[in-house]
Parts: sequence; structure tokens; C-alpha cells
Amino acid sequence: MDATRHPHKRVFLSPPHLGDDEFRFVREAFETNWIAQVGPQIDAFEAEFAKRYCATHAVAVSSGTAALHLAMRILDVGPGDEVLCSTLTFIASANPIVYRAARPVFVDSEETSWNMCPKRLEEALETRRRKGRRPKAVIVVDLYGQCANYAEIVPICEAYGVPIVEDAAEALGSCCNGVPAGAFGQMGAFSFNGNKIITTSGGGMFVSNDAAVAGRARYLATQAREQTAHYEHLEIGYNYRMSNVLAGIGLGQLRMLESRIQARRRIFEIYRQGLGDLPGVGFMPEAPWGRSTRWLTCITIDPAVAGTDREKVMLALQKESVESRPVWKPMHMQPVFLDMRTECFGGAVAERLYAQGLCLPSGSALQDDELERIIGLVRREFGR
Ligand SMILES: *Cc1c(COP(=O)(O)O)cnc(C)c1O
Repeated sequence: MDATRHPHKRVFLSPPHLGDDEFRFVREAFETNWIAQVGPQIDAFEAEFAKRYCATHAVAVSSGTAALHLAMRILDVGPGDEVLCSTLTFIASANPIVYRAARPVFVDSEETSWNMCPKRLEEALETRRRKGRRPKAVIVVDLYGQCANYAEIVPICEAYGVPIVEDAAEALGSCCNGVPAGAFGQMGAFSFNGNKIITTSGGGMFVSNDAAVAGRARYLATQAREQTAHYEHLEIGYNYRMSNVLAGIGLGQLRMLESRIQARRRIFEIYRQGLGDLPGVGFMPEAPWGRSTRWLTCITIDPAVAGTDREKVMLALQKESVESRPVWKPMHMQPVFLDMRTECFGGAVAERLYAQGLCLPSGSALQDDELERIIGLVRREFGR
């Protein structure tokens, strides 16, 4: 078939969605010649971000991964150390542990939120305590737009004296008991990668409630340069700052965030109405403690009841130029971590979510007729 005559344009999982102001901010950066890693756009982006989404200190960096790497460095994670981490996540949550030559230890999800299970976390910390070991940190991931169960996780980590690093890369704009994502750990990380709810084409934000910690992140992200004219260095840093041009995109995107959240939540509701009656279909639950942004609409398909499975549905959508993806393959199942013989506390919940979970197209610019078409294609695969 002639691809150019295909009646539908390709539908992506979560493509960028620009607002009206991004280009203006970028043009201002060009017109004032602030196109490097310093400038008014980056200052304004950090200030607005901190004020609106975490009430803390924010440092704009080149990626969410860089923000997590800085967190590991600031906590002095090093060779021989252990860091606990959610197993159901994108590998960028765990990579910075390995960058520091430390060992990840994974923790299963709970059914309520799909995020780190507090019981499994406590089990992991207790097992370590009995061996006289204390992990250097716990990286808690806020999955698919939803905060983890911090009302339980924070006191557990406090009791064991282990700092939390919050990977809020997927959860900008969500909250837990009225507190915004990113504010629960000693440090937090956001991502503005192209598929996130807002994007700077690529970028991230390091956040902390502690001004000194944020200052340290800023210093390490700019090659650990002392305040001298001749570039004095007392330690090794990184080139992790965001470009001022990209901060301009971020400034424009930040203004759109609330409407993007509304759009994605609406998309979720349309899917729920369109697919909720199908046998064996479940939806990622919204936990009682907060508002999910529904960054991605995730469904589960139980093959024992559905008469089909998530793989068949994914391939059927692919055939019609609609992109969908399995829920994250858990880290404890990844060959690279199996090779390292990493441990996982629990794992069955994440394994089931991976086996049955499918992320549907959720971009905030998705049109109603496209949604209807996708719902129709899924229903067709169910044979009803
Ligand atoms: C996207 C993502 C990251 C990494 O962000 P980048 O900006 O792509 O480096 C980290 N953790 C999770 C859970 C993510 O989804």
C-alpha cells in the first residue's frame, strides 16, 4: 500500500505540544545574545518552576538523568554502596547508581499506585539493618504522573536514616496530600525530555528544599568551578547545565502545564469510558492521596479473561500507525541488571504490570476523532 495515501497520520505515544510563547522566549534569547548556559531565561525558568511546582530551590540541567546523577554524587554514593530503587521504572532512574559504581537494589510496586511498595521497602531496609548495612539512598519513582505513597514511605526512610531521592521525571504537576511532586525527598529530579508532559526538547531540573544542597548541585553542574577569575578547581564536576535557549522553551511550556494536565486527564476519562466495559481490562488506579496528571493512560489486559493480550493489541495498533508501548519492563528483569546479580524485594506486582500493561497514546494535542479511532481499534481486537 502507498504509505502517502494512508488515510490517517501517525499517532505518537506522547509527542511534544507547543504553546504560544515558547518561540517568543527563544527569540528573546537570540535577540539579546544569551544563547549559552547563562542568561535571563534560565534564571526565570528556575524561579518560576521553584515557585509554582515545588516551593524549593531549582537548578536547570541538561537532563533528568543528570539531575539524578548529581543527587547520587551529592549523597556521596560510591563503590560498594547500595541504593534502593523502584523496580518498575525507566532505566534512567537506576543508571546514576551504576555511574557511581554503587549497586542498585530494587523494590517492587504496590497495587494501589503502581509505585514503590512501602512494605517491601521496609523489608529491604530491615534486612540491610540486620546485616549492619545502611543503603546510601532510596530512589522513589513517581510513575506515569502519580506520586508514590509518601505518607508511609517518608517515615520509614526517616526511621532507618536513609535519604530519599525523588525521581519525579514523569510526575510534574501531580501531588500527594496537597504537596507537589518533587518536594518529598532530600532532592528531586524532573525531566523535560521530548515525551514528558512539558518539554525543552531535552533537559531536566534538580530540586531540593535545602539551599545549600541546590547550591552544591549548581556548582557540580558547572564543572565545579570556584569563584575565581582563573578557574580554580578543588574537585571534579560535570558539564550539566541547561542551555539558556532551551530554558526559553521551558518558560513557555511551564505556562501551559496546567492545561496539559487537564487535557491528559480528559484523555484518560475518554479511554475509560470507551474501554472500561471490555472484559479483563483495568486502568492504572488513581491513589487516594493525590491527583495524577495521567501523563500516560495505562491499561492492563488480563489475557485469561480478555481473549486477547497486550502484545496483540499493541501490534494491532501499530499496523494502523498508532504507537503504544508496554508498561516499563521492571529493572530486576533487565539483562544488564541480571548480569550484575542485583537483588529485588518482591517483584511479582511489577512483573504482572509489565506482562499485562499497555500505555496508550496520551499526547495533550490528541484530537477526539483520533481517540475514537484508537478506541475502535482496541475494541476490534477484543472482537466486540
Ligand atoms: C524520562 C525519565 C527519566 C530521565 O529523564 P531524561 O531527561 O530523559 O534524562 C528518569 N526517570 C524516569 C522515571 C523517566 O521517565
